[in-house]
Amino acid sequence: MNYRHAYHAGNFADVVKHAVLALVIEHLKRKPAPFRVIDTHAGIGIYDLAGTAAGKTGEWREGIGRIIGADLSEAAADALEPYLAVVRSLNAPGALTRYPGSPMLARRLMRDCDRLVVNELHPEDRAELARLFARDEATKVLELDGWTALKSLLPPKERRGVVLVDPAFEQPGELDRLVAGLKEAVRRFATGVFLLWYPIKDDKAVAAFRAKIAQLGLPKTLAVELWVRRPDEAAGLSGAGLIIVNGPYTLATQLGGLMPELARVLSQGKGASFRIEELGADSAGGAANCA
Ligand code: SAM
Repeated sequence: MNYRHAYHAGNFADVVKHAVLALVIEHLKRKPAPFRVIDTHAGIGIYDLAGTAAGKTGEWREGIGRIIGADLSEAAADALEPYLAVVRSLNAPGALTRYPGSPMLARRLMRDCDRLVVNELHPEDRAELARLFARDEATKVLELDGWTALKSLLPPKERRGVVLVDPAFEQPGELDRLVAGLKEAVRRFATGVFLLWYPIKDDKAVAAFRAKIAQLGLPKTLAVELWVRRPDEAAGLSGAGLIIVNGPYTLATQLGGLMPELARVLSQGKGASFRIEELGADSAGGAANCA
């Protein structure tokens, strides 16, 4: 296990993932019944953007660094507000040195009655995560294999909630594991919201992945993808996506306002674009693309 999210925290892919997670949690809060957030590959929870790891890649500068003060359309600003409010709450006015990973983002957005389960297999990262939430009774920190956690933690007793599956993609076959994991997870927790993150390194492999997700025949499934430039292996990740199952009915509209602005503001050159595709059994199979 070599992957450490500290090198990538706050990059363009985190912006999309975390903005959507925040919108989902905000939507769950509309009903008074408690919900649970389950994060199967959690990382360390909060990141030091002034630290050595973040400084080595500087990826956050092309992600949250551009977004936090950007001049955005009203629709995009509205869609980003729950996410950016948490980022701002962790930083002094005008500063950006601390960035919330998915655990801290979820924790800051949850209410007193809601619960968070964060799982991380890397022993050092898990220890940091445990320290972060040591005195927090609403949060449970686990050290399971993420794929085992995805099965064993479902369904949550609240029968409401969101499950983030955000693997490190260090092992071959992670896209297939996402498909199989989602199938079983939805069988156990049909009403849950599921967010599955994936990098876009190989267009054909990702098209096959999207097709396999569509073949699961789940209702209400979206794929949202962002490219910040044309793929270039030497220059690192240029595209990433998120599968969203059972997302809020408002999400497709919110993403329709948000994604063109993210493609514009986060562009690193030619090829910056986005794609929003319905993959659910009840969809007409429409895709919105924009370069
Ligand atoms: N979800 C985090 C966030 O948004 O802030 C980032 C998670 S990072 C992309 C993936 C994490 O998965 C890493 O911290 C890595 O140590 C952990 N990991 C790798 N293999 C794992 C496994 N089999 N089970 C659980 N965690 C694993």
